[in-house]
Amino acid sequence: MNVPGEEQYRTRGVTYCPHCDGPLYKGKRVAVIGGGNSGVEAAIDLAGIVEHVTLLEFAPAMKADAVLQEKVRSLDNVDIILNAQTLEVKGDGSKLTSMEYKDRVNDTVHQLDVAGIFVQIGLLPNTTWLDGAIERNQMGEILIDAKCETSVKGVFAAGDCTTVPYKQIIIASGEGAKASLSAFDYLIRTQPVG
Ligand SMILES: Cc1cc2nc3c(=O)[nH]c(=O)nc-3n(C[C@H](O)[C@H](O)[C@H](O)COP(=O)(O)OP(=O)(O)OC[C@H]3O[C@@H](n4cnc5c(N)ncnc54)[C@H](O)[C@@H]3O)c2cc1C
Repeated sequence: MNVPGEEQYRTRGVTYCPHCDGPLYKGKRVAVIGGGNSGVEAAIDLAGIVEHVTLLEFAPAMKADAVLQEKVRSLDNVDIILNAQTLEVKGDGSKLTSMEYKDRVNDTVHQLDVAGIFVQIGLLPNTTWLDGAIERNQMGEILIDAKCETSVKGVFAAGDCTTVPYKQIIIASGEGAKASLSAFDYLIRTQPVG
């Protein structure tokens, strides 16, 4: 978000992973920043755990798939605020207690009392160094098949930087094991005998 307080309260209320940290906010009020698919999925997920979710979207409309928007709007404990620009994260020195946002339509500033802020405004895989070498999708994720093969024979990829869905440690680890086995399989089939 690049706003005052974000660094100070990172891991003390500012978080980036609803699946990982959601249960820590059971029964509390939280905010989700971002109304794309990640933000709306996070809000739906968190609504089942926390007391209340406020979803803030910078633009005049959410970008998430219609089916997700319909689902999130059906939840009683989720409020959606559009045109909301996050201004500041505030706390008591040890943990986050609230946040400030500006209504971009009328320039009014509002405070939300929340225990957690889940930032869901996009992740960028660090793959630009592969430009022109290996095929990636429009988000920069390396395209892989079920065996972790890339577009280049003998080159395998695994983990968050690939198109594998659900960016979690156990998945990245499993994918790493799969890529290694695929590499081994590739080598025993291509290395000359003798
Ligand atoms: C804040 C946060 C909290 C999370 N909490 C959880 C959690 O509680 N549970 C969970 O399951 N998942 C969690 N995740 C997701 C989890 O961290 C990732 O799914 C997992 O780390 C992916 O592993 P990886 O090896 O694919 O990538 P990474 O762990 O990102 O490792 C990639 C490594 O490659 C290095 N690298 C990058 N570019 C280059 C280059 N050009 N040359 C050499 N090295 C390079 C990086 O420095 C890094 O060390 C969290 C993620 C974040 C951001």
